[in-house]
Amino acid sequence: MATADSTPAERLHAVQARIAAAAGEAGRNAAAVRLLAVSKTFGDAAVRALADAGQRAFGENYVQEALEKQAALHDLPLEWHFIGPIQSNKTRLIAEHFSWAHSLDRLKIAERLSAQRPAGLPPLQVCIEVNVSGEASKGGVAAADLPALAAAVSTLPGLQLRGLMAIPAPTTEVAVQRAAFRQVREAFDALHARGFPLDTLSMGMSADLEAAILEGATIVRVGTALFGERTKHA
Ligand SMILES: *Cc1c(COP(=O)(O)O)cnc(C)c1O
Repeated sequence: MATADSTPAERLHAVQARIAAAAGEAGRNAAAVRLLAVSKTFGDAAVRALADAGQRAFGENYVQEALEKQAALHDLPLEWHFIGPIQSNKTRLIAEHFSWAHSLDRLKIAERLSAQRPAGLPPLQVCIEVNVSGEASKGGVAAADLPALAAAVSTLPGLQLRGLMAIPAPTTEVAVQRAAFRQVREAFDALHARGFPLDTLSMGMSADLEAAILEGATIVRVGTALFGERTKHA
């Protein structure tokens, strides 16, 4: 985990080592797991420091905050992923300023993102957020509703459906972490069996990325272990 006296490069290398170790344990290639650095609440200087250490993909939860960082860092070839809840009045800015959106959970939002994606950009790469722990408070689509939403999203020209994303309820019990991630993987496999050409499982954060990789994660979204504890509520 991040400590106050470690450098951004040291923290990045430590997370990369965790990814490599978990991939090795899973018998997977570490290159098949992408690291998304979640920079919410941290300023552009912190993002730049991690970019200087070699990190390219950054995840943000709040549109306005992300746009300010993007403006300050426009000289860098960064890839921005939107990972927060998507409000319909924010779809245009997301469609215009991000490469990916991980947290799609409604057709209406998908239609807006597709219609608002600028013609000069490649399709917005999207994941559907699936609700695995069954908690009403957490976002995401019930597994039973995935095939219909995936089918509808797949017809939208401004979007490319890449896979599923999940944020299971936090727990320190590895067996419980793995059971939740396995549910996401099974939902992914079920869509695959129906013919959806998906390649992305966005799951695992600072505290549970090993369990996620053991269950097949292809993108882990890591904030705290790279940037330190967040002081602002987020
Ligand atoms: C904040 C956040 C993360 C990163 O969480 P950490 O525990 O700080 O690694 C990952 N995914 C989403 C959707 C988040 O909001």
